[in-house]
Amino acid sequence: RGVHALDPALLNLVKRSRPRIEHKTAELADHFYTALLARAPGLRTLFPLDPHGRRAPLTDTLIWLLQRLDDRDELVRRLADLGRDHRKHGITAAHYETAGHALLDTLAHIHGPTTWTPPIAAAWAKAYAAATHEMLTAAAAERGPALWLGRVVEHRRPTADLACIIVQTLEPLPHRPGQYLSVETPQRPGLWRYLSPTEPARPDGVMRFCVRALRHGLVSPALVAQTRIGDTWRLGPPLGRLPEVLDTRRDLLILGSGTGIGPLSALVAALDTRDDPPRTQLYVGARDETELRALLAMAPGARHRSWLTLTPVIPATDDDRPSSVVGTALRGRTWRDHDIVVCG
Ligand SMILES: Cc1cc2nc3c(=O)[nH]c(=O)nc-3n(C[C@H](O)[C@H](O)[C@H](O)COP(=O)(O)OP(=O)(O)OC[C@H]3O[C@@H](n4cnc5c(N)ncnc54)[C@H](O)[C@@H]3O)c2cc1C
Repeated sequence: RGVHALDPALLNLVKRSRPRIEHKTAELADHFYTALLARAPGLRTLFPLDPHGRRAPLTDTLIWLLQRLDDRDELVRRLADLGRDHRKHGITAAHYETAGHALLDTLAHIHGPTTWTPPIAAAWAKAYAAATHEMLTAAAAERGPALWLGRVVEHRRPTADLACIIVQTLEPLPHRPGQYLSVETPQRPGLWRYLSPTEPARPDGVMRFCVRALRHGLVSPALVAQTRIGDTWRLGPPLGRLPEVLDTRRDLLILGSGTGIGPLSALVAALDTRDDPPRTQLYVGARDETELRALLAMAPGARHRSWLTLTPVIPATDDDRPSSVVGTALRGRTWRDHDIVVCG
């Protein structure tokens, strides 16, 4: 019943919708939420309108999944993460069924009657059922809490647009180094965003985050400027496969820029506890010296060690555009024998 059981011919029919979905993302999101909330008005609180009158981006996830239809293991892993993450909203099988009807209705709308043929409609219905099966199976297998409550215990702003925020959860949140999780804060109720702890999990439940305010962002400027000690955050389950790199037997190239340094710092700290840490080249990108110092102070794992070489990447002059971390690492070198991690 899951994704692995789907017929390749059926997935080829589903793939045909991709160009339409990619070209009509705003229309697709509008139509989907209208169709969903007409069927289930109670779900309105889960998808609050943002100040621009939009609701959470569904299309990013849909496109991501469509791009990976040929990699079923990857699809299953992502769907399982989504299913686990949706537990925090109390999503049930009935909700998925309602959302499925809304999605098919929306796809029929953006296709139009001539291209939304019965075989394509049937393929989408089967693919959606298989995806739902993966999400529900993963959610049912979870034994831990659906979400955690944390209290902000420290908030510092080393630069105007960066903040180091330390949160302590009431119950330990068992994240692995390099994982991320979604957070919801009192300043922006209903708007969940992903953040990555900068340290491996601690027994006292303390988690440190490095956050950048995006100029036109809805949530990050509030996180940086308005967070207060004592705020209560809601945190979703840990997600992502970056911890797999901890078992590598190959040398490592790690590239991070800006707040991407957060998960890298957690990874490096965890690698340091290995008897035989891999030889590692770490490139860290920042806009200038001040920002570089701030990032490194917020991400204590990212520093020189006997097995690790740290190369800062910053523009040579104030007028330079931000340097590319990837471009710098590739200049004059190939990294054929390395595992490569890119963040940020
Ligand atoms: C796996 C993962 C881990 C993350 N970890 C961290 C972290 O540790 N610290 C942190 O500060 N942020 C992190 N982020 C980014 C964070 O989740 C938000 O996307 C970011 O804070 C913007 O949210 P916003 O509400 O302010 O902006 P939005 O209102 O969502 O977006 C505003 C505009 O900025 C664009 N935009 C969104 N995200 C980015 C981005 N990352 N870079 C450039 N433009 C963008 C959007 O397309 C939009 O045009 C992570 C994201 C992911 C996917």
